[in-house]
Amino acid sequence: MKAARAKTPRRPKKATNPALKDPVGVYCRVRPLSRSDQECCIEVVSSTTVQLHPPEGFRVFRNGEYREMQYSFKEVFGTLVVQKELFDVVAKPLVEDLIRGKNGLLFTYGVTGSGKTHTMTGSPGDGGLLPRCLAMIFNSIGPFQAKRFVFKLDDKNGVDVQSEVEALLERQRREALPIPKTPAGKRQLDPEFADMIDVQDQCRVEEVDEDNVYGVFVSYIEIYNNYIYDLLEEAPLDSIKPKWNSCNTPVRNGDFVPPQSKILREDQNHNMYVTGCTEVEVKSTEEAFEVFWRGQKKRRIANTQLNRESSRSHSVFIIKLAQAPLDADGDNVLQEKEQITLSQLSLVDLAGSERTNRTKAEGNRLREAGNINQSLMTLRTCIEVLRENQLYGTNKMVPYRDSKLTHLFKNYFDGEGKVRMIVCVNPKAEDYEESLQVMRFAEMTQEVEVARPVDRPLCGLTPGRRLRNQPAGPEEPSAAELFFQSFPPLPSCELLDINDDQTLPKLIEALEQRHKMRQMLAEEFAKNVLAFKTMLQEFDSGVASKENYIQGKLAEKEKTITGQKTELERLEKKIKTLEYKIEILEKTATIYEEDKRNLQQELESKSQKLQRQASDKRRLEARLQGMVAETSLKWEKECERRVAAKQLEMQNKLWVKDEKLKQLKAIVTEPRVERPERPSRERDREKPLPRSVSPSPVPGAPAAPLRPRRSRSAGERWVDHRPPSHVPTETLLQPRVPRAITVDSPSERALARCDRYLLTHQELASDGEIQTKLIKGDVFKTRGGGQAVQFTDIETLKQESPTGRKRRSSPPRPDPAGDTADSEWTDVETRCSVAVEMRAGSALGPGLQHHAQPKRRKP
Ligand code: ADP
Ligand code: MG
Repeated sequence: MKAARAKTPRRPKKATNPALKDPVGVYCRVRPLSRSDQECCIEVVSSTTVQLHPPEGFRVFRNGEYREMQYSFKEVFGTLVVQKELFDVVAKPLVEDLIRGKNGLLFTYGVTGSGKTHTMTGSPGDGGLLPRCLAMIFNSIGPFQAKRFVFKLDDKNGVDVQSEVEALLERQRREALPIPKTPAGKRQLDPEFADMIDVQDQCRVEEVDEDNVYGVFVSYIEIYNNYIYDLLEEAPLDSIKPKWNSCNTPVRNGDFVPPQSKILREDQNHNMYVTGCTEVEVKSTEEAFEVFWRGQKKRRIANTQLNRESSRSHSVFIIKLAQAPLDADGDNVLQEKEQITLSQLSLVDLAGSERTNRTKAEGNRLREAGNINQSLMTLRTCIEVLRENQLYGTNKMVPYRDSKLTHLFKNYFDGEGKVRMIVCVNPKAEDYEESLQVMRFAEMTQEVEVARPVDRPLCGLTPGRRLRNQPAGPEEPSAAELFFQSFPPLPSCELLDINDDQTLPKLIEALEQRHKMRQMLAEEFAKNVLAFKTMLQEFDSGVASKENYIQGKLAEKEKTITGQKTELERLEKKIKTLEYKIEILEKTATIYEEDKRNLQQELESKSQKLQRQASDKRRLEARLQGMVAETSLKWEKECERRVAAKQLEMQNKLWVKDEKLKQLKAIVTEPRVERPERPSRERDREKPLPRSVSPSPVPGAPAAPLRPRRSRSAGERWVDHRPPSHVPTETLLQPRVPRAITVDSPSERALARCDRYLLTHQELASDGEIQTKLIKGDVFKTRGGGQAVQFTDIETLKQESPTGRKRRSSPPRPDPAGDTADSEWTDVETRCSVAVEMRAGSALGPGLQHHAQPKRRKP
């Protein structure tokens, strides 16, 4: 017998890669209230969150405040969630892992009555996770199971494999044992639990390795008061005698045998196992569940007999799956120990997590309860330390050994495996405080990470071995067996006494008959062989011709196929070339497109620049045109003004000449006419008036004594002499002469009627502006009866540019900015007093007033 030991559950090398760790999956199940009138304190707010409402009159904090707390889980299952749904989410992945050779741990946690057992075991017609897991395992590996005893678990947490013959022998040996084992298949299920495994759901793992053979082993233990009991242990025959229970009190209860506690050991791979624990190989869901139920019954009896509180024990149902590959021929298990994988799934229904005072325990039971509490406390502490070590990188020792429960599952947390916990809660208000503790523990557990189990290596044999070696059908008696059965039976050959003369002749007869039959059969056989031979030959020739035909056809087809292949190759080549071309074209197109884009961008920027330039040009043109028009207009005006000034000057000169000529004529024609006499001082003063071009009093007139001029009363009259060449200027201050006789040439008649004389004289000033001079004088009657004018005052009216005044030398330039002209042009009035001795101080007569006129606007 070849034996092999598996190395599972495996333990990874130290310092596990953090990337290969998964947090403990924590789920929450809220059971329905048992009565509708109960106060509810837990609300499912989302698929991952529950909210705890403190019940009436309950205060969480000492200061009387209380908080609504929310707790999040991987998933929350509300009251309407059915077992199947829960199984699909929580347990199915664990079963899949188990079949792939990975370990898993699933436990339910919560206070008593919160639905832990309901979730794990279920009730008739509503199987829980455990029966569903079993069903899924057998649905998946059913047809690939090894014969019973091919896999053998040893007592050191390992597994051996033996050949089918050895397994058969062991089967026979065991069946001969006095304690009969119920043979698989002919099982009569207890109606009590038959319903629970009537799982309609044909849930299975896809992609089960068909080239493996599988063996399932189950064990069921209970941890109570920190003792481990094997719930599947068969009572030895000599056990019907007084026993001592765990509390050292004698038990004498008919055939009830109190269980013996077991101890934990660590195997060579540091995995914990229960020594001497019964591990039953099971071949179907029913068988496995029956084993579970047997343990359950035993547990119940023990609880009653030993007066235990059932809610204070932890139950652990362990499913071990051994798998080994088929050999290269696919008909036998490979006898190589390295190739065996043993994985296990532990389903744990924990004791109620409530504190002791809840159940009014006393004495022993209180102590026991304390211990049980202790194991849950240890679990909490372990989780806490693990979390702390992982979160803060500390290396505190995790106290697994402080309780059997944590010690047993040490390797799930320290080694590798998938760990999932279902937190069961009863939403009733009475459980509020306990539920709060449960939630806190759950929250902490979620933060613990466990190394992800690694995939097992492949065996290296060709897949599909089993299928190749599949037998055609069920075994039938061979033709030879049938043939021998058809012979008449041989009579007894035993000679009873010496005189027996019947036995031998009967035997001879029978043998002769047999010989005859044999000959007949031999002949028939020869005939049949001949017929068969001819048939075979016929068939052969038929087959040969068919073969020829088929070969011909085949050759034809092959030819076609070859042709098609070459065609295909050619087309493929063509496709490749075309693809290559397309690639090149695409690249070129991309380049061109890039170029096009660049050019377009350039074009756009150029056209924008051009537009900018054009608009600049237009603006400049407009400005220039405006300037030209303005300048030309100004120059035109300037020219006009200069022409006018020149004209005036010329006219003035002409007028002076005319005047002189007239006077000369008068002298020539009227020599006797008396002339007004001018005072000598007047004559002297004529000289310092070089700029005066006014008609001076007749130069050659005799100096007659001036008659006192008429008094300057309000009735004073003026002769306003404006030569016809007078150009109206737009000087702001214009003289206004009231009661004046306006004349354009000297008139005797006008002089005779007036006593004041005003001559308006215009000339071009040095700065090119027209300047108007108002020359004023008094009119005197000459002795000869004529009139004489004595000039007393010159008033000069002139326009002057405030800027131009500074640069007197340069002629006034037209201002390009016409708008500023207003501020630049002012009217200037200059007065030059011609002081006549007699009339000194009365230069300006009161009759002469200046009137402001609207300022002129420069073009
Ligand atoms: P625990 O094992 O936590 O002490 P049980 O599983 O024995 O609690 O549940 C107590 C009672 O509540 C049982 O009668 C059970 O049928 C019922 N129960 C628990 N959970 C549910 C549920 N989800 N739906 C219906 N009934 C439930
Ligand atoms: Mg329970």
